[in-house]
Amino acid sequence: MFQIGCHLSASRGFLAMGRDALKISANTFQFFTRNPRGGSAKDIDLDDVAAFRALAQKNGIQTILAHAPYTLNACAANPSVRDFTRRTMADDLRRMEHVPGNLYNFHPGSHVQQGAEKGIELIADTLNAILTPTQRTTVLLETMAGKGSEVGRSFEEIRAIIDRVALSDKLGVCLDTCHVHDAGYDIVGDLDGVLERFDAVIGLDRLKAIHLNDSKNPLASHKDRHELLGQGSLGLQAIARVINHPRLRHLPFFLETPNDLAGYGREIALLKTLREP
Ligand code: FE
Ligand code: FE
Ligand code: ZN
Repeated sequence: MFQIGCHLSASRGFLAMGRDALKISANTFQFFTRNPRGGSAKDIDLDDVAAFRALAQKNGIQTILAHAPYTLNACAANPSVRDFTRRTMADDLRRMEHVPGNLYNFHPGSHVQQGAEKGIELIADTLNAILTPTQRTTVLLETMAGKGSEVGRSFEEIRAIIDRVALSDKLGVCLDTCHVHDAGYDIVGDLDGVLERFDAVIGLDRLKAIHLNDSKNPLASHKDRHELLGQGSLGLQAIARVINHPRLRHLPFFLETPNDLAGYGREIALLKTLREP
C-alpha cells in the first residue's frame, strides 16, 4: 500500500486532521504537537482522539507522524533551554500514548559553537532522560541540511547519537529528501549509492519515514528551503525513484512542500500517478 500524506494544521484537533487527510485522498499525515515555536499544548481532548481513532480505523489511516516544535534544541549550550526541550518532548511523548504506535520526529539540534561532538553527547543525554521502556511511540531523528551548526547533517552524526542512547530500540530516522540533498547526498544522481551508505552507517531498518520535498537550492548548499515537487533541484524523476525504490516504497511519505490543502491534494494525486504498482 502507498502510504502518502502531508503536513496538516493541528489547531482543530485530531478528527479535523483525519477529515482533512481524507479530503485530499491521503492515508496518513504529519502535524506539530504544539505551536511550532514551542509554548504550551492544548489539553488532549479524549472525545476528539476517540473519534479520530474510529475514523482512522474505518478509512485505513495508518501510521501518523507527530513533529516536535522546531525551536526546541536538545543540545543548546544554555541548560535552561535544554531543560525546556526535555520537558516539552517528554510531555509530547506522554500525549502520544493516546494515539499509540505512531511516530514522533524531532530536529536533533544546533550545537552553536560547542562542536558537533558535544552536540551529539547532549542530544543523547536528552533522549536518555525522556525515553521510557513502556512507550509505544518511535522517536525519529530527522536528517538535517547542515545549515548553521545543525547536528544530523551526516548519517555518521545520526549514528553517533543512536549509539549513545540506552533505549535505542525506541529510535528511528526520518529522511528528508530536501535536507539530505542540501547536506550533499546526491539522491538525484545516485539514490542507490546514498541508500547503501545509509544502510552501512545507520542501517535501513532504522528508517521509518520520508519527508518528501523538492529543494530550492543545489546539492550540498546546506540551505533547507523546500520547493514544490518537480519545481526544484530534485525534479519529478528523482522523486518518482524515491517513492518507488524497493527499499523505500513500504515507508510512509509526508509532503512538507509550500502548499495549502488543495495544493497538497494535487501533489498527492500526481504522486499516485507516478507510483508503480
Ligand atoms: Fe522537520
Ligand atoms: Fe522535514
Ligand atoms: Zn526543512
